[in-house]
Amino acid sequence: MKAAVANAFGSKLDIKDVKQPAIEPHQILVKIHACGVCHTDLHACHGDWPVKPIMPLIPGHEGVGEIVEVGNAVTHLKMGDRVGIPWLYSACGHCEYCLSGKESLCLSQQNAGYSVNGSYAEYCAAHSEYVVKVPDEVSYVDAAPLFCAGVTTYKALKVSEAKPGDWVAIFGIGGLGHLAVQYAIAMGLRVIAVDTGAAKKSLSLSLGAEEFIDFMTDNVVEDIKEFTGGVHASVCTAVSKVGFRQSYDVVRRGGKCVLVGLPPEDMPLPIFDTVLNGVSVVGSIVGTRKDLEECLEFAARGKVKAIITEKKLDDINGIFSDMEKGDITGRIVMTL
Ligand code: NAD
Ligand code: ZN
Ligand code: ZN
Repeated sequence: MKAAVANAFGSKLDIKDVKQPAIEPHQILVKIHACGVCHTDLHACHGDWPVKPIMPLIPGHEGVGEIVEVGNAVTHLKMGDRVGIPWLYSACGHCEYCLSGKESLCLSQQNAGYSVNGSYAEYCAAHSEYVVKVPDEVSYVDAAPLFCAGVTTYKALKVSEAKPGDWVAIFGIGGLGHLAVQYAIAMGLRVIAVDTGAAKKSLSLSLGAEEFIDFMTDNVVEDIKEFTGGVHASVCTAVSKVGFRQSYDVVRRGGKCVLVGLPPEDMPLPIFDTVLNGVSVVGSIVGTRKDLEECLEFAARGKVKAIITEKKLDDINGIFSDMEKGDITGRIVMTL
């Protein structure tokens, strides 16, 4: 089968023929129709994080397609079912996190396109218990970005505990952020968006953000505070240390700063202000299968739709370099 393979950190991906995965009894084989390109895949191929991925690696954790083979221990899925393979490729199913609805914190989890091969390929093996069905109303291409960017931002907004009518600042209007704006609007929140350039500005406003702040030319913290009086919550998807600190500084007393982006840096926090202002700073990692079902349901009802540019697997190295420059509007989805 054809796949994009990372052989070493920082080098270009190889588009080549590799062996099609054989499935185990609890697995299914998915013929991938579409796969979104997440900034996490770029971090993986650069070896940015303390825990490194396997190499050689087939990246990709926004792969969706149809089941073409079913392991003999699988009873709830059948040939032809439309499913997606998320970042949470598998978890143990019996630890305190798995048992308490926090499976994305499982210490024994495997991650698609990181600790196991992912969906930058014509076929991908998946754990039958951790794939999620794509609703009939949603096409493969439209579904792909929801399997990471969608569920991650939907979950982060839940974690923010912002209520209808509250202000939320979304930092980074990339693949994740442009969906965060849409989920926030669908939840009745008021959105102020932060990124740079005319394309991100018009995208943000067209999706329902009431204001756009350009981090290159505006006074981010002062402007947001003036416009909102301090937001009830912020969700930071920016791949920037500065953006993280600003997303903390704009939260009003008692509010929540939700960390989602994963730049390989630290974020200094002032103890005095955090204590006196009663601000919570919390990390949010993807979402559970239930979160994913809910987030797909928003798309099925037409409340959320990723802005997508379709490309091919052969384009992956160009896509990565555009992503590094911040030149992508919405999400790139590779069709296979
Ligand atoms: P992306 O490249 O599509 O978008 C990032 C955006 O941040 C770009 O639009 C860029 O212009 C913007 N940006 C850069 N500096 C900024 C600043 N100072 N202020 C505001 N915006 C700024 O990336 P993506 O696919 O949306 O992923 C974003 C980050 O989220 C990555 O680090 C990725 O690894 C991480 N991520 C985390 C989770 C999770 O579960 N927590 C899940 C998926 C991705
Ligand atoms: Zn992702
Ligand atoms: Zn577990």
